[in-house]
Amino acid sequence: MFCAGYLPPRPSPARRETIIDERLSPGTRRMEAMGRTTLSLNPASHLYDADIEPRYTVGFPAPTRHDVTFEHIDMDVQKVVRRLTRHGHEAYLVGGCVRDLLLGRQPKDFDVATSARPEEVRDLFRNSRIIGRRFRLVHVLFQGGKIIEVATFRRNPKDDRDDTDDPSELLIRNDNVFGSASEDAMRRDFTMNALFYDLEARQILDWCGGMEDVERRVVHTIGDPETRFREDPIRILRALKFAGRLGFAITPDVYDAIVFCREALALAARPRVSEEIMRLLRGGQARRTIYLAWETGVLDVLLPELSSLLYDEGTEDGPSARQWRVLDYLDRRTAEVGPLDDSVLWTLLLLEPIREACEGARDRSTVVADFLEPLVERLALSRRYIDNIRRIVAIMPRIATGRPGRFARTDIFDAAVEVAFADLVANREPTDLLLKFRAVAQPPRATPRVYEPAPNPRRGPAHRRRTP
Ligand code: ATP
Ligand code: MG
Repeated sequence: MFCAGYLPPRPSPARRETIIDERLSPGTRRMEAMGRTTLSLNPASHLYDADIEPRYTVGFPAPTRHDVTFEHIDMDVQKVVRRLTRHGHEAYLVGGCVRDLLLGRQPKDFDVATSARPEEVRDLFRNSRIIGRRFRLVHVLFQGGKIIEVATFRRNPKDDRDDTDDPSELLIRNDNVFGSASEDAMRRDFTMNALFYDLEARQILDWCGGMEDVERRVVHTIGDPETRFREDPIRILRALKFAGRLGFAITPDVYDAIVFCREALALAARPRVSEEIMRLLRGGQARRTIYLAWETGVLDVLLPELSSLLYDEGTEDGPSARQWRVLDYLDRRTAEVGPLDDSVLWTLLLLEPIREACEGARDRSTVVADFLEPLVERLALSRRYIDNIRRIVAIMPRIATGRPGRFARTDIFDAAVEVAFADLVANREPTDLLLKFRAVAQPPRATPRVYEPAPNPRRGPAHRRRTP
């Protein structure tokens, strides 16, 4: 019997219908009727606001336009967009920031998409530089190390391909072909992430039913889910991340495609997979997202050591229930202090499997290192993390006694206190002995994604890993 009242048991397929929404989103129905790759996705003409003429030739097809006024858009982003448009280019806010503003959430960062080529953008902003070799985009630097990312519209290179029956041929290896605004919207992953905001007209431009999906709070791919997941399997993790983080439902066709395509994650670039796992954990809804990953079988592909432990539902004090409580605690802690350090996140994610591996072992350090070794190959887990996890696990018992001794002066101490605290909470044991360490030890924080300190330009550009 699973720990009643803590997490629901894995739902049967029939019950799944109650947690996910109806069969297809309106946007997808429209797309299915009209065919995705032809880009003939014009919504019905009555949806247009006839009074508003587009200021630019945004290319065919015309988007649905929605009047929306957002407050609190970063002033520097506004400057960037306005300078681009004053010079005759199209420029919009795009992606996660538009979605988050619509949902009343604070965007993590603001991205700009434009018709201007990278060199043209660079020439317009003295304080800018082109980054990336294959996919070139421009970083515009502002005071305090703020960076606004400006990307030229691109299109999905696979839209040019002849139809193929071989699913492996769908994998996108080069995502760097310039395109129009509508093509740039269509190459994006989910309808809610493909909304463009026109600052001057105060309108959202929607080519693929994103507004309706945001209103209905559903995650839906742009076009056929299986094709989009095979093109880039990382999108599977992104679907789970957004569903978990935003509390959105996953439509059944997308859900089924996740289950069907999950093995394709083995084809994705491993550092991207592990970075996306970290993002799932940082988002404040780790338990819900890991539950979805487990339920869909994605966890079987990525972390079989964890998913098999979770299958063994056991008692309320058993490893599976404890691991869910660890994740629950992780979310509460993230809400209190912001995203935790990556070494802490990895350790918490694997805490119970590691404990199981260490049972009865005299040399816990070696056991932990051996246990983590397969993750180096599977997820490109770096040696630095392995070493940190090993050290955290080694000193946890000392911390739990309240007498860490010389370990209190090591660089891993704060991280180990975080993990030891989570462990006590998950075991329903008192935490008062650790409170004094916490008063001193600030939890290690993750670095923000975009607003990072500007590197010295004379040392050459810093290459930031970029999801396509
Ligand atoms: P977050 O709030 O986590 O940053 P986000 O939607 O902004 O969410 P990013 O990883 O910052 O996600 O990506 C920015 C945008 O780029 C997305 O909103 C989406 O439009 C597009 N994008 C990112 N990854 C992919 C992908 N794998 N395939 C297609 N489009 C993608
Ligand atoms: Mg983002």
